[in-house]
Amino acid sequence: MKTNKNDFTTRPLDNEPVGKTVQVVHVKGDGAFRQRLLEMGFVRGARVTVMKNAPLQDPVEYMIMGSHISLRHSEAAQVEITDTDVDITNKEDVFNGTVETTVTGVDPMADDVLRVVLVGNPNCGKTSLFNNVTGATEKVGNYGGVTVDSKEGWFNIDGRRVQLVDLPGTYSLTEYSPEEMYVRTYLRDNHPDAIINIVDAGNLERNLYLTTQIMDMNIPMVVALNMWDEMEKSGDRLDVEMMSRLIGARMVPLTAHNGRGVKDVLAATMDAINESENETRHHNVNYGTLIEDCLKELGAMCPSLDRYTVLKIIENDQHALELVNGQDNAEQVKTRATEMRQRIERDYNSDIVSIFTDLKYGFVRGALAEVLTPNPERASDVTKPGYSLDRLLTNRWLALPILLVLMWLMFEATFTLGAYPQEWIENGIAWLGDWIGNAMPDGILRDLIVDGIIGGVGGVLVFLPQILILFFFISLLEDSGYMARAAFIVDRIMHRVGLHGKSFIPYLIGFGCGVPAIMATRTLENRRDRLVTILTIPFMSCSARLPAYLLLVAAFFTANQGMILMSLYLIGILIAAITAIVLSKTVLKHDKTQFVMELPPYRKPTARNATIHMWSKGKQYLQKMATIILAASIVVWALGYFPRHEGQTPQEQIENSYMGQMGKAIEPLVAPLGFNWQMGVSVLTGAAAKEIVVSTMGVLYTGEADATEESAPLKEKLQTATKPNGEHVFDQTVAYSFMLFILLYFPCIAALTAIRREAGTKWMIFEIFYTTGVAWLVSFIFYQLARLL
Ligand code: GDP
Ligand code: MG
Repeated sequence: MKTNKNDFTTRPLDNEPVGKTVQVVHVKGDGAFRQRLLEMGFVRGARVTVMKNAPLQDPVEYMIMGSHISLRHSEAAQVEITDTDVDITNKEDVFNGTVETTVTGVDPMADDVLRVVLVGNPNCGKTSLFNNVTGATEKVGNYGGVTVDSKEGWFNIDGRRVQLVDLPGTYSLTEYSPEEMYVRTYLRDNHPDAIINIVDAGNLERNLYLTTQIMDMNIPMVVALNMWDEMEKSGDRLDVEMMSRLIGARMVPLTAHNGRGVKDVLAATMDAINESENETRHHNVNYGTLIEDCLKELGAMCPSLDRYTVLKIIENDQHALELVNGQDNAEQVKTRATEMRQRIERDYNSDIVSIFTDLKYGFVRGALAEVLTPNPERASDVTKPGYSLDRLLTNRWLALPILLVLMWLMFEATFTLGAYPQEWIENGIAWLGDWIGNAMPDGILRDLIVDGIIGGVGGVLVFLPQILILFFFISLLEDSGYMARAAFIVDRIMHRVGLHGKSFIPYLIGFGCGVPAIMATRTLENRRDRLVTILTIPFMSCSARLPAYLLLVAAFFTANQGMILMSLYLIGILIAAITAIVLSKTVLKHDKTQFVMELPPYRKPTARNATIHMWSKGKQYLQKMATIILAASIVVWALGYFPRHEGQTPQEQIENSYMGQMGKAIEPLVAPLGFNWQMGVSVLTGAAAKEIVVSTMGVLYTGEADATEESAPLKEKLQTATKPNGEHVFDQTVAYSFMLFILLYFPCIAALTAIRREAGTKWMIFEIFYTTGVAWLVSFIFYQLARLL
């Protein structure tokens, strides 16, 4: 029995049992979160299925419009739903097709360069296409927020040179998140010649929402229907030609990751550009007479603004209103827009944001109803291959242990597998040092090469294998789709420290390198959340610190090396958690953080991707060696080599050098932590980049060894290093205290630059003092307690 559409009861989504499918009636509240829910497809009449609870019971995974989304109970409570047998259609659902507007040709940049930009949802394959077309090796990943900046590349077609820009993934152009802001501002300020809008062909309903917004920007557009391989496999049929006509945009099938269809997409793009040189006919969503009249009237009052912005003015969007402020008739426009808004809201009996989202989704659904024939025998999500794996990985009891074991395996493998190639490199360097040492005459130049360059750079170079292995694992985790599940699993825990599970991803990247991790926080929509995450990322032990740990652990701990290493990572996490709690309860206080997080489908990670990623990290590491670490090694060597005095032992020489004087000056500061002056100098120079801690030790301790030991590995030199009174410099306590300090103190210059760019100078300065203060305190407490016991 169908209930009359005016008398049905609604209830909140959060109490629905797993497995149940219901339909959305309304999303309560206002602001960014509500807007995001609407854009992700929580519009009137949409079907939602409750998939499962996270292991800690919150959040919950829902499926809507073919995508999987994680919502907390408190967030789901804002969605009003009803049973699926109730008819709740209303006038927004009518398909009105498109309206055409003609814009006379403008050459946007009036120059020879053609600029084409890639716009699409996160994870739809933009970077895959970008790499394929430009030959670049940018990182692809299987979750949102991998590309957080624009990347530019070039290609040639029809004898013209074209710049291709890979923009961050975005669900919409509403300027709520920094990514949306970035894309919107980019499109407005750079006037690209054409947009390639990449959509996931298997998820058109959701993906085409963004398309409807782009259409209103009046820039020539081609829609690339990506993941066409999956589409074909699913057995769904799509009438591409008919859809192009209905939506009024060129549509071209594409399989970005193997390159099928790339030529067609580029050809269609060139056609679009060539046509637009005279005049362009743009197709826009037809919103019905009332709204179209409003748009026409208001558009005439703001001739310089595109249809998208005019629509946003009616919506009372602050960013759009700012654009009006420059006009003489600004007040008139605003008054008229308010009148229109009230009129429309009265007419549709809803609020303006829902009305426009409903209309856009109505348009998309209307078109898809005509052109998409789903395969009646299509495997449901429950029988898809990833599903049984997912059941295991997010199992209530097993999920957290699996996560921990995976992380432990990653670190253990880094340590043990890396040891073999490390030894080869170590031997090679020792051989090179000996060979040059014997072949060259005594003198400054020989000392510079052997002690400064080979000692310093070589000490860090040996860790290349470990770095590569670590990044290989991180890349596998990212590419498979597991990262997003990890965020889903730990959300409840992250909530405890005032953050969202989504922060987990930047943190995990932070184990590789803090700079991309800090950039990746752009996917967090709430500024305070972003700040807390940025300020705590440096406590995630990055790979640059690994050489120091590996050296010290190997030298002073014989048993449980993996455990010792892991304990450092865990202490970093603990300090980050305490910091996050304190920050989010005090200076960065905020009520709650709400995000709609998408859980991408599981994909088989490709060896190619992982290798590309590993290689590009390896290249970066080598570049760092050839530049900053080389320069620092030479400076450190020189500071330790001069001034020269005749007849000194190497020991006395280095003590009386500039470096020795510097070290002696700061010794009182680090002595309570168990450090000697060499260690003090090492952390000082390590501020530039943490690898330099090891290269500095390499330089400092080379000078101390006597001639016969010249080529002994640094590890042995540390083991045998003695104080003037004959005691060993290092023991386990000193080594651990030193590692704690390296873990926690001063993020490197590159990370600080990233913090400054994302959070501002004030927070950067805070971070310098805070991290160094914490490092000192923790090492102090550890060292003093350990000595008492
Ligand atoms: P972006 O976030 O839009 O830049 O997307 P990426 O290029 O990083 O790709 C996201 C994921 O989709 C990666 O795991 C890719 O390997 C995968 N992918 C990209 N294009 C295709 C395609 O045409 N077919 C299939 N099956 N997978 C693809
Ligand atoms: Mg990308």
